[in-house]
Amino acid sequence: MADDCVFCKIIDGKLPCYKIYEDDNMLAFLDIAPVHKGHCLIIPRQHRVDFPDLPDDLMGHFFTTTKRIAEAVKAAVNADAYNIGMNVGKEAGQIVMHAHLHVIPRYKGDGLKPWGKSKYPEGEEKKVQEKILQKLEL
Ligand code: 5GP
Ligand code: ZN
Repeated sequence: MADDCVFCKIIDGKLPCYKIYEDDNMLAFLDIAPVHKGHCLIIPRQHRVDFPDLPDDLMGHFFTTTKRIAEAVKAAVNADAYNIGMNVGKEAGQIVMHAHLHVIPRYKGDGLKPWGKSKYPEGEEKKVQEKILQKLEL
């Protein structure tokens, strides 16, 4: 529990939410400002700041819970598809510093474009691959 954390306040019942799932480790509720109706957030009950702060032994449960919720949301709002996403760090759009997965219902032709695309200059892909491989071996 972090005193200044809005999601900890929701977990603690100090702030209201439209809860859709809870168990000993997880809570899911409707996002207050949805991209589309049914947009929801899945969070660990423990205050964890962001993705790398999540303990490994929670990951499996986090994703199986998210899968179950995402499929229920999709059916409930007649969505064609959905995005699952996590903003990690403020430059990536993370505003609430308590790790959370977004489930965002999507519709054919809804026009949302989460991110743009570019091309690697000649030879750059190989360099980037090598740098990542080095980091993974640390
Ligand atoms: P982030 O940008 O950090 O990935 O996403 C935070 C999300 O939390 C936003 O989509 C925002 O609408 C949602 N949010 C922020 N405060 C509250 C709140 O008090 N209640 C609910 N239900 N959602 C919130
Ligand atoms: Zn928190």
